[in-house]
Amino acid sequence: MREYDEELKIPVISENKILSVLRTIRFGENPRCIYCGSETVIRWGYVPHSKKQRYLCKKCGATFNDLTGTPLENSKISIRDWVLIAHMFFNKGIRVSEIAKMTHHSPRTVSRVISITRENKLLKELLKKITSS
Ligand SMILES: [Zn+2]
Repeated sequence: MREYDEELKIPVISENKILSVLRTIRFGENPRCIYCGSETVIRWGYVPHSKKQRYLCKKCGATFNDLTGTPLENSKISIRDWVLIAHMFFNKGIRVSEIAKMTHHSPRTVSRVISITRENKLLKELLKKITSS
């Protein structure tokens, strides 16, 4: 990860930073329940072994985390790699085959990340905020 970040002259983006930006975009100061819309949501620790904030809705009892309901939720690749692939393609204009080589993911995986990001408002905003700060 580190070496191609340097090659691209972009700062190393930590998972923590990505989650924090995503959290701000999605939930801001007053998180709402993603299921029932209630504002009676409390922060409920973290997903074990991760920096993902968990939330508990006191109205409907549902729990969710920073990534629940986003394409990143069940992604097999790390969220750092996801952001990096999107950055390389959308901001740097690097071809899919090159990105695949540099990130050690298959061209099929890289293409999937790109097409999902292109269709997703939240991910596009995340990429914009991460790479402009
Ligand atoms: Zn709820």
